[in-house]
Amino acid sequence: MDNALLFDARARVLADLQARHHATAAAVSVLEDAVAQRKWWAEQWPEGKSYVAGLVAQDVQDALFETVGRWPMCLECDPEAPVHALYIQPDLGGPDPVWVCEESGEVVAPLGGLG
Ligand SMILES: [Zn+2]
Repeated sequence: MDNALLFDARARVLADLQARHHATAAAVSVLEDAVAQRKWWAEQWPEGKSYVAGLVAQDVQDALFETVGRWPMCLECDPEAPVHALYIQPDLGGPDPVWVCEESGEVVAPLGGLG
């Protein structure tokens, strides 16, 4: 297993947490758990490595949803519009994961590029 890949996944998700002021100790701990889980997963299925970063982002998103709420929110659309979130595309987590607005379907940023 290529650890650089996991460091990259961790760095990208952490950058997006920080970009939205969501990098609390609890969120970083969720991120560490997600990276550890996906490390195990990618060791079982090495061909899955191009999906790891997006899957870690989805894992963190799911875990935060159960505790602090939705992350990341869309800041691209009309501020008058009801608040809504972004999701990872492709849904499988990769390759080349991007954040997409759940309302407009527009690509907002690559994973790690919300700042
Ligand atoms: Zn939007």
